Parts: sequence; C-alpha cells; structure tokens
Amino acid sequence: MDFGFSDEEKLFAESLRQFARTKLKPEYRKWDAGTPYPREKLRELASMGVTALRVPEAYGGVDASYVMTGIASEELARGDYNVTLFLQLGAMCANIIAKHGSEGVRREWLPTIASGERLLALGLTEPGAGSDAAAIKTRALREGDYYVLQGEKASITFAGSADACIVFARTSESERGARGISALLVPLDIPGVSRQVYPSAGEKLTRRGSLIFDGARVPADHLLGAEGGGFAQALSGFDYNRALIALASLGAAQESLEETIEHAKQRTTFGRPLAEREGVSFQIAEHLTLVASARLLAYQCLALCDRGQRHSKEGAMAKWLGPKVAVEAIHACIILHGWMGYSDEMPFVQRLRDVIGLEIGDGTPEIMKGIIARETFGRNFMIYK
Ligand SMILES: Cc1cc2nc3c(=O)[nH]c(=O)nc-3n(C[C@H](O)[C@H](O)[C@H](O)COP(=O)(O)OP(=O)(O)OC[C@H]3O[C@@H](n4cnc5c(N)ncnc54)[C@H](O)[C@@H]3O)c2cc1C
Repeated sequence: MDFGFSDEEKLFAESLRQFARTKLKPEYRKWDAGTPYPREKLRELASMGVTALRVPEAYGGVDASYVMTGIASEELARGDYNVTLFLQLGAMCANIIAKHGSEGVRREWLPTIASGERLLALGLTEPGAGSDAAAIKTRALREGDYYVLQGEKASITFAGSADACIVFARTSESERGARGISALLVPLDIPGVSRQVYPSAGEKLTRRGSLIFDGARVPADHLLGAEGGGFAQALSGFDYNRALIALASLGAAQESLEETIEHAKQRTTFGRPLAEREGVSFQIAEHLTLVASARLLAYQCLALCDRGQRHSKEGAMAKWLGPKVAVEAIHACIILHGWMGYSDEMPFVQRLRDVIGLEIGDGTPEIMKGIIARETFGRNFMIYK
C-alpha cells in the first residue's frame, strides 16, 4: 500500500495550490453575487490543465488519472470551492461523450471542453424526481433525424451559462423506470430551450437553475450510446464524482482550519494566545483528524477507479463523510474567529453555504447511506425500491 503522491502529482498539487491562493481566493467573494463567470476566467483555468483532465489525448486533453483529478478538486477548492464545479462537470461530461458519443460529436465537443471554450451541464433531476432519478418524465421521442425534447430539468448546475447539457430523457413510451432512459447531448442555443436561474443560498457562481425544453429538436446523432442506456452512464460517473465532491469540500475545510490555526496563534484572550487553550487547540486537532480520514477515503475511491475496480461503496462513503466533516470544521472556524468569523469579509460563511449545496447535489446523505447499505446487505434490502 502506498499513501504518497508521485513527484508529478506533488508538482501538480503545488502549482494548483499556488494558483488557487493567488488567483482564485482574492476573487472568491466577488462571485458570490451570482454575476456570470467570465469566459476568459474559464480559459485561464483551462490553461492550468483543469478542464482537460478527463478528455482523451486524441481530442486535445491530457487523459489524467482520477487521483490527479481529485488533487485538482482539493487544491482549487482552497481558493474557490465553486470553481471545482467546472472540473466536475467537465470530467463527467467528457467521460460520457468520450465513451458513448459518435465520432462527429466527440470531434466537435471534446476539444472545446478541454480548451475551456465550451461549458457543459448534466441534466438528470426534475421538479418531481431527484433521489428517485429513474422516475424522470422528460421525453425525447424520435421524429425522423431528430429527437423532440419535452420537459423540465431542475436544479442544474450551470443552467444559466452552459453551452450544452447532457440531458437524460425517456426515449421509449413503453419502457418504465431506468430502462427507458437515454442520454442526449443538447446544444442549448437551439429553438425550444429556455433557462431559469434560481436565487440560491450558495454556489452562486454556478448559476444553478432549470432548463425547460418545449419541442426542442435535437439531431439524432447527438444520442450518447444506445437508446435505453442513459441511466447506467449517469450512475457510473456519479461514483467517482462523489470523491471529487468530498475532496473539494475537504480542501475548503483544510484551508479554513489552516487560517484558523494562524488566527489562534495571533489572537490573545485573558493574556494568552487562543492556541494555548486546549478548548481551542483540541477542537482544531479533532477537525484536522476527521478531515485527514475523510480525505484518505476519497483518494481510496479514486485509486480504485483508476485500477478499474468497483468503487460505488467508497464513493458513497466519501460523499457522505467529506461534506459533513467539512461543514462541521468550517462551522468551528467561524466560532473560533468570533465576530470576525461571522463577517462576509471572511470566507467562512460563504464556504459553509457553498459546501452545504453539495451535501445535497449528486445525492443526499440518506441516498449515500442507502448505497453503502445496498453494497453491504445486497440488493434485496435496498432503501430505494
Ligand atoms: C447545489 C446543487 C447542485 C445540483 N446540481 C445538479 C446538476 O447539475 N444536475 C442534476 O441533475 N441535479 C443537480 N442537483 C439536484 C440533486 O441531485 C438533487 O437535489 C438530489 O438528488 C436530491 O433530490 P431532491 O432535491 O429531489 O430531493 P428528494 O429526492 O425529494 O429528497 C428529499 C429528502 O428526502 C430524503 N429521501 C429521499 N428518498 C429517501 C429514501 N428512500 N429514504 C430516506 N430518505 C430519503 C432525501 O435524502 C432528502 O433529504 C443539484 C442540487 C444541488 C443542491
């Protein structure tokens, strides 16, 4: 067993940490107003290799390992948690297109994902179906050379700004549940598509919202994989992305703890630095320990994924534990900074709001525990059937 990063991984982590602290962190608060994130910023991220990580080399990417992708998620979150969503959606969409797209679709879309020219979203959730994703109702029925799309996708990250969305929809009138669901790459500038951005409590940079399809005609060659195969495609991406979410959350928590350690050394009360009080230093010791444990679990998931081994259970464990541990650590950092910690001039409250979003996104804690239980007890004892 080897718990260390290679020299290449260490170098990548260092360069991204430097980038996150010098370029992202000073602007973190600025994007909390929900103004669109400029495309030149996305291209700047691309120049650091962030958007190309899971794009195959043949299409302009670097085909990086999942562990490397996790390193990027953890380090970027030290500067701006929400920027990791460009990485997560880029990785998941690139993986689906690379594995299931036609050659034409791959050539058109993958190089522009890698270069940061185009931004993709992933649309599974609907107003009436979130955890129970197999209950979606959006339809994509074939008419000649097109699929005609009707329905609403809800709570979609980047709904307000994406160029295209991988939409999961029913392509069969007869098949029920997961079996009738297919994935389509839908350019969002075609007629019959409208968007609605939500007033969100956090993650405002992502302009999360609804995508509404009213007779939108999608070229038939934009079907990804076989008809009826879409649900399995979505699920396979969620498993490793859950570790990326955990690492982003833990990166934000680790940065908060390091800031709090410095504060505790400087701030004196009753004539002594806070760091000399066990009530303070033990709290920090506990949070550091929990963050370190959850981090190992997330990297274990990604290492399994790199080796082609099953990692659903580890992904669900990391996704439940990582954001929970991060929320608790960041909350403690707010309190340990006193009134300053509660100010919008410090990053803690924004980090807390942002991390809570991904306690829900990509599967809630209850659904994560359901997956851990399914992998433990077997499918006869599932909580979601
Ligand atoms: C910040 C954010 C970003 C998101 N981004 C995207 C995106 O890009 N694309 C996308 O498709 N979706 C996205 N989502 C949607 C997200 O995946 C869903 O919100 C999530 O899957 C939960 O679905 P729901 O909100 O409909 O809650 P529900 O399914 O209605 O669940 C409500 C509550 O009941 C609990 N619950 C449900 N079923 C059970 C059960 N069987 N046993 C015990 N408890 C249960 C849940 O855990 C939850 O606490 C995002 C959400 C957020 C908050």
